Amino acid sequence: MNSLAPYHSFSLQSSAQSIVFIESLDQLSKIEWTNDTWILGAGTNTIFTSNYSGSVLINQLKSLTITESDTDWLIDVAAGENWHSLVEKLINEGIPGLENLALIPGSVGAAPVQNIGAYGVEISRYIESVQVYNFKSHEFVKMNNSDCNFEYRDSVFKQPENSHLLITSVQFKLPKHWLPVLEYPDLQSLPNDATAEMIMQHVIQVRKAKLPDPDEIPNAGSFFKNPVISSAQYQSLLSNFPDMPAFVLDKNKVKLAAGWLIDRAGLKPLRVGDAAVHQRQALVLINKGQASGADLLTLARNICNTVKEKYGVELEPEVRLLGENGLLAQL
Ligand SMILES: Cc1cc2nc3c(=O)[nH]c(=O)nc-3n(C[C@H](O)[C@H](O)[C@H](O)COP(=O)(O)OP(=O)(O)OC[C@H]3O[C@@H](n4cnc5c(N)ncnc54)[C@H](O)[C@@H]3O)c2cc1C
Repeated sequence: MNSLAPYHSFSLQSSAQSIVFIESLDQLSKIEWTNDTWILGAGTNTIFTSNYSGSVLINQLKSLTITESDTDWLIDVAAGENWHSLVEKLINEGIPGLENLALIPGSVGAAPVQNIGAYGVEISRYIESVQVYNFKSHEFVKMNNSDCNFEYRDSVFKQPENSHLLITSVQFKLPKHWLPVLEYPDLQSLPNDATAEMIMQHVIQVRKAKLPDPDEIPNAGSFFKNPVISSAQYQSLLSNFPDMPAFVLDKNKVKLAAGWLIDRAGLKPLRVGDAAVHQRQALVLINKGQASGADLLTLARNICNTVKEKYGVELEPEVRLLGENGLLAQL
């Protein structure tokens, strides 16, 4: 039956034509790539909204090597390692840097794909290189940070034409001269001399208070990206919504809080079947048990339409939504 429900954290009932677990690099050359093959890590940012007609490769490569230069820690991690376990292990070994990104679910290999970020830090800051296996040429290729085109929740790996690139390991460079990043509002209660361990524990606490644990309430984290709009549009929105929060990106652009837009549009009570908006964090959509892909897509469309009508702002999914034949081109 090849059920995908256990392999994606939104846990919709769905299945794949076949599921292959990647446990060693030797397996890769024997895999024949077809356009409907989908690479999966822990499935915490991917939602299978229907049965999938292709095969799914689940990356479970494991290894960790730590070396050092005079100035930096150099961490080489296989893509199937758990992200949060890596953060904890490094902090416990006295290697700071990733503490703001604690408790983000998922695998190390998916971290570069959407350039994971939280509490004022994006992982692209610390990625030295990414090793990939190209299923079309059957070669390993090392990509440097600048080859990855990292942007807000985006990278070269998210482009559909690169779906045949399997990230096998990631190389991080963490400076020994460490400085805490405490600018994010949720971290401002910490003292300026907070240690990495203190920051990690604080981030864990804040996240546990705000976000549903996917093991208890199936979800895929932020369903939508925070929309980026022009400063001029923001200024005009402020006349109707004077308390609308925004993060200034540069003199022409600001990033809005999608959760705030959804909440203030009165959409928290919205529910379609068992697909619903989370009550503590409106940016997270949840599966209350038996949601179907159609329920979720209808809910997401309703949210987008209402937000567009109320503020003139387009919401775009942050999660990877798959239908029968692959990535959905639109909601
Ligand atoms: C409760 C919750 C909170 C979250 N909070 C945050 C947050 O604060 N910040 C944030 O950025 N994200 C957050 N997320 C999203 C998610 O945790 C991250 O995107 C994470 O990196 C996904 O890892 P994964 O292994 O589950 O990826 P998957 O869902 O398995 O895959 C995600 C994408 O990466 C691709 N991919 C996965 N592995 C590989 C590989 N080895 N090679 C090539 N492509 C690959 C997949 O094809 C897919 O396109 C949250 C999710 C949840 C459920």
